Amino acid sequence: SREWHLVARPHGWPEASDFALREAAVAAPGEGRVLVRNLHFSVDPYMRGRMNDVKSYTPPFKLDHPMDGGAVGEVIASNAEGFAVGDHVLHGLGWREYADVPAKHAVKVDGSIAPLSAYLGVLGMPGLTAYAGLFEVASFKEGDAVFVSGAAGAVGSQVGQMAKIKGASRVIGSAGSDEKVKLLVEEYGFDAAFNYKNGPVRDQLREAAPDGIDVYFDNVGGEHLEAALSSFNVHGRATICGMIAQYNATEPTPAPRNLALVIGKRLRLQGILVGDHAALQPQFVQEVAGWLASGALKYRETKVEGIENGFDAFVGLLRGENTGKMIVSLDA
Ligand code: NDP
Repeated sequence: SREWHLVARPHGWPEASDFALREAAVAAPGEGRVLVRNLHFSVDPYMRGRMNDVKSYTPPFKLDHPMDGGAVGEVIASNAEGFAVGDHVLHGLGWREYADVPAKHAVKVDGSIAPLSAYLGVLGMPGLTAYAGLFEVASFKEGDAVFVSGAAGAVGSQVGQMAKIKGASRVIGSAGSDEKVKLLVEEYGFDAAFNYKNGPVRDQLREAAPDGIDVYFDNVGGEHLEAALSSFNVHGRATICGMIAQYNATEPTPAPRNLALVIGKRLRLQGILVGDHAALQPQFVQEVAGWLASGALKYRETKVEGIENGFDAFVGLLRGENTGKMIVSLDA
């Protein structure tokens, strides 16, 4: 079995030499455990933070140990009650071909509701982030004008569509290519979208939201956050979900220069950690499964085939090579 190890802590952009694909032995599962053949594993932006040796809300990856993260696979041997060979499970031991998983950390998933990879995206952690971030953290209400950055990504594409479904007056998205912008408007039903590489975000947002915005879902930080502050109406609310524009920064990043607008506009900026919103999971799955079945909610995935391409998939995600959820597939 092959598995990815972090072998050096990246400084700035991760390099191939910071990672190694190594062989590991596969053993029969011990008491209360299942052996899983992984079919898909997730690469996520938060993993970049785990490559640094700093205290954070998730522990850093250990050097020369297998990396981990979301994965779905098939049980090929079970030594745990309630799990049988052939079951499909979602678990936390990705970045490897075979996973020896404690049954208490495995959740059975149903491939007939949605493709198994969807449990890493639209029906999984990123989907719940969108749902909780919009409805709980940003206190979205009907009639709000919503701006979301990273709008063609796993989280952002769901935020914009969920806002439309629930009666947003206007949904605006930004993304890093003209092709992604086209997808947002033509397939996901955004009212307006722009390519942040084509000009200052502040000007493009002003033009896309002439009447201002009430909610900003921030996946990017930096110039995007500053632009949102500038376009906010009074009592606007921001969900601070991610700041991917600075994850590879080697220098301190600039603060929003217009932060004082928070006062006059009585803005609320609130961070989210999806883990705090587990109680929403049943409601989220039920509502999103319904939207998927009716066609109200759409999603894309970018699948990179083969465990040997795990590093390329991860760095590709940071570069914007994905449309929707970035997934490494091992099921060939
Ligand atoms: P995405 O699917 O959105 O993939 C990342 C995207 O970020 C890329 O496709 C790229 O798209 C964009 N990007 C990369 N660099 C930049 C940049 N400099 N400026 C603007 N956009 C950039 O990932 P996820 O949906 O999984 O995650 C989105 C955000 O949500 C991340 O910031 C992540 O850390 C955060 N997150 C936070 C969680 C929480 O609990 N707080 C949980 C899950 C995710 P493009 O081509 O448009 O540039």
